[in-house]
Amino acid sequence: MLTWKDVIGFSVNGNPEPDRRVEKSEAEWQEQLTQEQFRITRLKGTERPHSGALCTTYDEGKYNCVCCDTPLFDSTIKFSSGTGWPSFTQPIRENAIKYEKDTSYGMLRVEVLCNTCDAHLGHVFPDGPEPSGLRYCINSESMVLEKTPK
Ligand SMILES: [Zn+2]
Repeated sequence: MLTWKDVIGFSVNGNPEPDRRVEKSEAEWQEQLTQEQFRITRLKGTERPHSGALCTTYDEGKYNCVCCDTPLFDSTIKFSSGTGWPSFTQPIRENAIKYEKDTSYGMLRVEVLCNTCDAHLGHVFPDGPEPSGLRYCINSESMVLEKTPK
Protein backbone atom coordinates (compact mmCIF):
# COMPACT_ATOMS: atom_id res chain seq x y z
CA MET A 1 0.00 0.00 0.00
CA LEU A 2 1.26 3.45 -0.91
CA THR A 3 1.57 6.17 1.72
CA TRP A 4 2.37 9.89 1.55
CA LYS A 5 6.08 9.07 1.98
CA ASP A 6 5.97 6.93 -1.20
CA VAL A 7 4.13 9.67 -3.10
CA ILE A 8 6.73 12.27 -2.13
CA GLY A 9 9.47 9.80 -3.02
CA PHE A 10 8.04 9.28 -6.52
CA SER A 11 7.64 13.03 -7.09
CA VAL A 12 11.24 13.69 -6.04
CA ASN A 13 13.14 10.61 -7.24
CA GLY A 14 11.12 9.55 -10.28
CA ASN A 15 8.08 7.41 -10.98
CA PRO A 16 7.70 3.63 -11.47
CA GLU A 17 7.95 2.34 -15.07
CA PRO A 18 4.53 2.01 -16.75
CA ASP A 19 3.64 -1.26 -18.53
CA ARG A 20 3.31 0.63 -21.81
CA ARG A 21 3.37 4.21 -23.16
CA VAL A 22 0.79 6.00 -25.32
CA GLU A 23 2.01 9.18 -26.97
CA LYS A 24 -0.04 11.33 -29.34
CA SER A 25 0.20 14.85 -30.71
CA GLU A 26 -1.94 17.63 -29.31
CA ALA A 27 -4.01 17.60 -32.53
CA GLU A 28 -4.65 13.85 -32.19
CA TRP A 29 -5.82 14.24 -28.57
CA GLN A 30 -8.06 17.13 -29.58
CA GLU A 31 -9.62 14.97 -32.27
CA GLN A 32 -10.28 12.08 -29.87
CA LEU A 33 -11.52 13.95 -26.78
CA THR A 34 -14.40 16.29 -26.02
CA GLN A 35 -13.45 19.92 -25.44
CA GLU A 36 -13.83 19.55 -21.66
CA GLN A 37 -11.87 16.28 -21.55
CA PHE A 38 -9.10 17.90 -23.59
CA ARG A 39 -9.03 21.01 -21.39
CA ILE A 40 -8.70 18.94 -18.22
CA THR A 41 -6.41 16.11 -19.27
CA ARG A 42 -4.11 17.79 -21.74
CA LEU A 43 -4.17 21.41 -20.47
CA LYS A 44 -4.26 20.57 -16.75
CA GLY A 45 -7.72 22.01 -16.17
CA THR A 46 -10.09 21.38 -13.27
CA GLU A 47 -13.81 20.71 -13.49
CA ARG A 48 -16.22 22.56 -11.20
CA PRO A 49 -16.83 20.67 -7.93
CA HIS A 50 -19.93 18.45 -7.88
CA SER A 51 -20.24 18.79 -11.67
CA GLY A 52 -18.64 15.50 -12.63
CA ALA A 53 -20.71 12.50 -13.65
CA LEU A 54 -18.62 10.10 -11.54
CA CYS A 55 -18.77 12.03 -8.23
CA THR A 56 -21.73 10.21 -6.78
CA THR A 57 -21.41 6.91 -8.64
CA TYR A 58 -20.51 3.88 -6.58
CA ASP A 59 -21.18 1.17 -9.15
CA GLU A 60 -18.65 -1.63 -9.17
CA GLY A 61 -15.99 -1.35 -11.80
CA LYS A 62 -12.71 0.08 -12.94
CA TYR A 63 -11.97 3.74 -13.58
CA ASN A 64 -9.94 3.96 -16.77
CA CYS A 65 -8.02 6.88 -18.26
CA VAL A 66 -10.30 8.71 -20.73
CA CYS A 67 -7.31 9.21 -23.05
CA CYS A 68 -5.65 5.78 -23.21
CA ASP A 69 -8.10 3.43 -21.41
CA THR A 70 -5.51 2.26 -18.85
CA PRO A 71 -7.14 1.24 -15.54
CA LEU A 72 -6.25 3.84 -12.86
CA PHE A 73 -8.54 3.22 -9.87
CA ASP A 74 -11.35 0.86 -8.94
CA SER A 75 -14.61 1.13 -7.07
CA THR A 76 -13.27 -0.70 -3.98
CA ILE A 77 -10.88 2.16 -3.23
CA LYS A 78 -13.35 4.97 -3.95
CA PHE A 79 -14.73 6.90 -1.00
CA SER A 80 -17.01 9.85 -0.37
CA SER A 81 -14.80 12.80 0.53
CA GLY A 82 -17.46 15.49 0.28
CA THR A 83 -15.14 17.61 -1.88
CA GLY A 84 -17.18 17.36 -5.08
CA TRP A 85 -14.60 15.31 -6.98
CA PRO A 86 -14.28 11.52 -7.20
CA SER A 87 -11.86 10.46 -4.46
CA PHE A 88 -9.77 7.35 -4.01
CA THR A 89 -7.30 6.09 -1.40
CA GLN A 90 -4.97 4.09 -3.69
CA PRO A 91 -4.20 3.59 -7.36
CA ILE A 92 -5.31 0.27 -8.91
CA ARG A 93 -1.60 -0.58 -9.39
CA GLU A 94 1.51 1.15 -8.18
CA ASN A 95 2.74 1.96 -11.69
CA ALA A 96 -0.61 3.24 -13.06
CA ILE A 97 -0.07 6.76 -11.72
CA LYS A 98 2.68 9.31 -12.11
CA TYR A 99 3.38 12.00 -9.48
CA GLU A 100 4.81 15.45 -10.07
CA LYS A 101 5.41 18.44 -7.82
CA ASP A 102 3.01 21.26 -8.69
CA THR A 103 3.82 24.75 -7.41
CA SER A 104 1.09 26.60 -9.35
CA TYR A 105 -1.18 29.09 -7.52
CA GLY A 106 1.51 29.58 -4.85
CA MET A 107 0.81 26.18 -3.30
CA LEU A 108 2.95 23.10 -3.07
CA ARG A 109 0.83 20.18 -4.24
CA VAL A 110 1.41 16.80 -5.85
CA GLU A 111 -0.12 16.48 -9.30
CA VAL A 112 -1.46 13.07 -10.34
CA LEU A 113 -1.09 12.00 -13.98
CA CYS A 114 -1.73 8.86 -16.02
CA ASN A 115 1.65 7.11 -16.13
CA THR A 116 0.85 5.70 -19.58
CA CYS A 117 -0.13 8.86 -21.50
CA ASP A 118 0.60 11.78 -19.09
CA ALA A 119 -3.07 12.85 -18.87
CA HIS A 120 -3.62 15.28 -15.99
CA LEU A 121 -6.00 13.58 -13.54
CA GLY A 122 -5.97 15.75 -10.40
CA HIS A 123 -3.97 15.94 -7.17
CA VAL A 124 -3.20 13.71 -4.18
CA PHE A 125 -3.33 14.93 -0.57
CA PRO A 126 -2.18 13.43 2.75
CA ASP A 127 -5.58 13.87 4.47
CA GLY A 128 -7.36 10.70 3.28
CA PRO A 129 -8.78 7.90 5.41
CA GLU A 130 -6.61 5.32 7.16
CA PRO A 131 -4.76 3.05 6.57
CA SER A 132 -3.08 4.75 3.57
CA GLY A 133 -3.99 8.31 4.61
CA LEU A 134 -4.11 9.28 0.93
CA ARG A 135 -6.84 11.18 -0.90
CA TYR A 136 -6.59 11.12 -4.68
CA CYS A 137 -8.82 13.96 -5.83
CA ILE A 138 -9.59 13.23 -9.49
CA ASN A 139 -11.60 14.95 -12.21
CA SER A 140 -14.56 12.89 -13.48
CA GLU A 141 -13.83 14.06 -17.00
CA SER A 142 -10.43 12.39 -16.98
CA MET A 143 -11.89 8.90 -16.41
CA VAL A 144 -14.42 6.46 -17.80
CA LEU A 145 -16.09 3.90 -15.55
CA GLU A 146 -15.89 0.37 -16.93
CA LYS A 147 -18.68 -1.26 -14.98
CA THR A 148 -18.25 -4.82 -13.75
CA PRO A 149 -20.83 -6.98 -15.56
CA LYS A 150 -23.46 -8.18 -13.09
ZN1 LIG B 1 -3.81 7.70 -19.95
